[in-house]
Amino acid sequence: MKIVPVHAFRDNYIWLLVHGSYAAVVDPGNAAPVLEFLRQHALALCAILTTHRHDDHIGGVPALLEMADVPVYAPRHESFAFPHHPVGEGDRISLNALETALDVLDVPGHTAEHVAYYGGNRLFCGDTLFGCGCGRIFDGTARQLFHSLQKLAALPDDTLIYPAHEYTLNNIRFARMLDPENQALIEREAADQARIAQGLPTLPSTLAQERSTNPFLRCHTPGIRHAAAQSAPGADASDEMTFCAIRELKNHY
Ligand SMILES: [Zn+2]
Repeated sequence: MKIVPVHAFRDNYIWLLVHGSYAAVVDPGNAAPVLEFLRQHALALCAILTTHRHDDHIGGVPALLEMADVPVYAPRHESFAFPHHPVGEGDRISLNALETALDVLDVPGHTAEHVAYYGGNRLFCGDTLFGCGCGRIFDGTARQLFHSLQKLAALPDDTLIYPAHEYTLNNIRFARMLDPENQALIEREAADQARIAQGLPTLPSTLAQERSTNPFLRCHTPGIRHAAAQSAPGADASDEMTFCAIRELKNHY
């Protein structure tokens, strides 16, 4: 199976899972570039997966459904204006045309109902985990997001990370302010700057790479603890308090 990014809006990635002449799509905020890609490559859409209710992730669903009568998977505990299968933690989605299956993980925080899809060493995490960063808090809480990221951080090292936005370089700049001595971060910045300069995505990353560079997965390290305490005295008392402090700091960065 191949995973292909389709660009949408300013910095969204709509990920397509392609196998043979079929494709499933994750978070189609806009239908037009997806339909164009399917047409160019003579692919039939077989499923639509959505991680959360924000428009830039679901806006293209109705137009795609007009073209193809396919199942849509969307988080339970949330209402959507299109027919869908509500999914949550513990559910497994069989994508028979792609000869694969994905497990659903509840990862609240960015929104209260956000889910991720995981299978075959790949994680489609929407706006929860980004390259070297994490999502903002909308109607979830920072504590929820901390625990969701801890859950994702427990996946295998070689898990490929497919977030829904290209935010990596900006996130690395923020991370370097907190963690200036981190050699892996310095190396990541150079590598990702080179990718962007060539017009390539910085994604997917690997979970090992995120664990060594992403400050939101490094709240247990002395460097990030220290940086958190500088902005919010006492925030170094726990990983969770450190996380909440640096999430707040990022809001004003
Ligand atoms: Zn969102």
